[in-house]
Amino acid sequence: MRECGECSLCCKLPGVYGGDVAKPPDKWCTHCAVASGGCVRYETRPDPCRHFECLWLINEGLPEELKPSKCHVIFSELSDDIKDDALKAGDGSPIHVDVIAMEDGNYYKLGESMNRWVVRKMVDVVKARGCTVAVLNKGKGKLV
Ligand code: SF4
Ligand code: SF4
Repeated sequence: MRECGECSLCCKLPGVYGGDVAKPPDKWCTHCAVASGGCVRYETRPDPCRHFECLWLINEGLPEELKPSKCHVIFSELSDDIKDDALKAGDGSPIHVDVIAMEDGNYYKLGESMNRWVVRKMVDVVKARGCTVAVLNKGKGKLV
């Protein structure tokens, strides 16, 4: 089971608007104890925070390099407006990812259908960290 540790980036990168919280993107939420425990009002956090699902946290198949505190990007379910943009760009279809293979020989088993746009973004982020990566499907071979 993964743990957030010092991360807290979901309380900084996205805009959060719900209940009594109105936080613009890329600013720390005033309710966050940064790098020392995160939300100080966890039990009364507003709905957007309750519904947020961090893919790195819930899917141990995602490479360690994609931890938000390391790559400075958060991967989550797409909001409707981003999903629309991805669909318009022909990139909204789900693809089944079995394995993410890194050049250092590490393999991460995902076994999950993910939006192609999200997978592409993940690959870009890993590459920007100087790693070579391949996204594989057992039946279809290399996907991205
Ligand atoms: S972005 Fe993910 S790993 Fe980081 S604090 Fe939020 S839930 Fe935890
Ligand atoms: S209310 Fe809590 S969980 Fe929500 S953004 Fe602020 S610190 Fe994070």
